Amino acid sequence: MSRSLIFIPVLAVFLSCAAKERVEVFHVGEVEVRLYSTREAMTKELPEVLQLVDNLRVTDNVIKVFGYYDRENKVIYSVDDARTVIHEFRHYMEPDWRHGSEAKSIPN
Ligand SMILES: [Zn+2]
Repeated sequence: MSRSLIFIPVLAVFLSCAAKERVEVFHVGEVEVRLYSTREAMTKELPEVLQLVDNLRVTDNVIKVFGYYDRENKVIYSVDDARTVIHEFRHYMEPDWRHGSEAKSIPN
């Protein structure tokens, strides 16, 4: 039997994975926006600390990173999802905004 018969299915699987992982890069003013087709493709390009916390289990929750705003270099990393991109733009447009700051305060 020819070895190429074994090689073809493996190559086909590799090509289908490569086709799914793609990034679109565009600019909005001074901000570079990088939209990834999969979380896996995106997290590979994030700072190491975010790669380490991604998929980390904390009590009953698993941390999943869907986007990141690199303030120093003005780059938005995001999965191809409008809500995530808008969220990351908020980090750019409102530098003092913090997660949960819009939540109603509980009277004490
Ligand atoms: Zn955020």
